[in-house]
Amino acid sequence: MRIDVLSIFPKMFDGVVNESILKIAQEKEALDFHAHDLRDWTHDLHRTVDDSPYGGGAGMVMKVEPLVEALEAIVALDARKPHIVFMAPVGRQFSQKIAAEYTKYERLILVCGRYEGFDERAFDWADDCLSIGDYVLAGGELPAMVTIEAVVRLLPRVLGNSMSIVEESFSADNEGLLEHPHYTRPADYRGKAVPEVLLSGNHAEIEKWRKDQSFTRTQKQRPDLLS
Ligand code: SAH
Repeated sequence: MRIDVLSIFPKMFDGVVNESILKIAQEKEALDFHAHDLRDWTHDLHRTVDDSPYGGGAGMVMKVEPLVEALEAIVALDARKPHIVFMAPVGRQFSQKIAAEYTKYERLILVCGRYEGFDERAFDWADDCLSIGDYVLAGGELPAMVTIEAVVRLLPRVLGNSMSIVEESFSADNEGLLEHPHYTRPADYRGKAVPEVLLSGNHAEIEKWRKDQSFTRTQKQRPDLLS
C-alpha cells in the first residue's frame, strides 16, 4: 500500500513511521510512505496556507488553492487511483471496521488540517472524511498517524502472528467485543495469582473462560458495543 500525507508539518511523521511496526512494514515493502509539505504548493514569498474566514470570527482557515494543487500533484505521482481522506472532527468516526475496510485500497492520501480547518470547498476533493474521536486536536497529523498504524498493522505480512489481529478487541472475529485479559509469568506476583483455569492446560475451559471474560468486560466498560 502506498500512503501519502499532506501536512504543513511533514517531519512530525518521521519518528512514527521509522520505528516498530511501520518501519517493519516499509522494510517488507508492504508500506510505501511519503510525507509532503503543503507549503511547497504555495505561490507567495511567505508560503501562506491560511487566510481569515469570510464572515469574520476567530482563527484562520486553510486556503483551498494550495490544497487542491498539492492533491493533483500527489495523485499524479502514481498510476494507481488513491482514496483521498481528509482528517476532521466533523468526519465519520474512525473504527477497527473502517481500518479493515481501508486495507483494500492500494493507495491512500491523508490530508491534515490545522487552524480552524479546511475551506469547505476543499472537501469536494475528498473520498472520505475521518475523525478519530469526539475531541479537537491542533492538527490532523496525529489523527493521520493513528489511521496509518491501525490500517498498516492489518496488512498481510506486516504482523508476525496473524492470529493476534484476528482475535483482538473490536474485530469481527471477536464479535466486536473487547478482548479478554492476558497474563504472563510469574504465576504469582506479590500475592496476585493468575486465574487457575489458565494454568490448567484444558483448552476448551480456557476458551470458555476467555469468552466469558470478553463478554463481562464489554458489558462493564463498553455496553454500547453489545447492542
Ligand atoms: N474548527 C474545527 C477543528 C479544527 S482542528 C472544528 O471545530 O471542527 C484543526 C485540524 O486538526 C482539523 O482540520 C483536522 O485536520 C485536525 N483534527 C483535530 N481534531 C481531530 C479529530 N478528532 N479527528 C480528526 N482530525 C482532527
